[in-house]
Amino acid sequence: DAADGGTGKRVLLARPRGYCAGVDRAVVTVEKALETYGAPVYVRKQIVHNKHVVATLEKRGAIFVEETEQVPEGALVVFSAHGVSPAVHAEAADRQLRVIDATCPLVTKVHKEAKRYAADGYDIVLIGHHGHEEVEGTYGEAPEAMQVLDGSDRGDGAPTGAEAVDALQVRDPEKVVWLSQTTLSVDETLETVDLLRKRFPLMTSPPSDDICYATQNRQEVVKQIAADCDLVIVVGSRNSSNSVRLVEVALDAGARAAHLVDFAHEIDPAWLAGVRTVGVTSGASVPEDLVEGVLARLGEQGYDDVEEITAATESLTFSLPKELRSPPAGRA
Ligand code: SF4
Repeated sequence: DAADGGTGKRVLLARPRGYCAGVDRAVVTVEKALETYGAPVYVRKQIVHNKHVVATLEKRGAIFVEETEQVPEGALVVFSAHGVSPAVHAEAADRQLRVIDATCPLVTKVHKEAKRYAADGYDIVLIGHHGHEEVEGTYGEAPEAMQVLDGSDRGDGAPTGAEAVDALQVRDPEKVVWLSQTTLSVDETLETVDLLRKRFPLMTSPPSDDICYATQNRQEVVKQIAADCDLVIVVGSRNSSNSVRLVEVALDAGARAAHLVDFAHEIDPAWLAGVRTVGVTSGASVPEDLVEGVLARLGEQGYDDVEEITAATESLTFSLPKELRSPPAGRA
């Protein structure tokens, strides 16, 4: 047709995509901490799981560390959006660190649920990925009452699916509750919950979704476009759980191929051979300029007919941590 010079090449651009309210708040928290208190500002772990964001903040004076013990006594440290366990707060207090906690309020909500169910004597099954920072933080709220159920195959021989469910040990099968990481695949999690319910028919569910609105919306729109796409490009980093899930969701929903890229230059021209429709989306930790870079790169290859497909509109914002809330002039 006329719009694409007859090549049929087009882009379906997913909306919503990119930054969620929790990531936006965490990034602004580090920026404001730098403005207010001056460099260096220490940040425990990557503030959000995106290479570009981390590199940009490093240039402005943020110092990223793995553990609080790497932060000099008395210095200012920001905790990342993924949350930390109470033990980390205690260590920071021991070292007299000044703490600004950028944990996403939707992660904090899961921490509170964990604490409450543990106090009420429940065994908690936390569905999530072993080793992910968010899971470590949530687990730390009630290690005596919690087991992590990682249904995915990590290639290490650990049981998956029904076998992993069978391996759980609980005190009272009538007093079990499931909680989850905020960035899982919605469909896979429901399958896991079905397996759990077969073993624990009286299991309690969390009072509201633990998988957050942003994760759900980004997966929903990808599902809508995937079947029409020969290729889906997800902008995001490898360690970003929600970004990796978007690749899986795209493939499950019928995309012929799907790839994760941090930057536009990572698009392999071979991926585009014979491709008419490219879907583009980005994870919740990805700034929009990286998506623009991908669209520009695709445009150079003739994919300049871009149609945005909207599955939901988002308006949620979170106020900044209290240490940074300033009188009216602030960006909050
Ligand atoms: Fe919060 Fe969800 Fe964003 Fe994670 S992905 S920071 S839980 S809004």
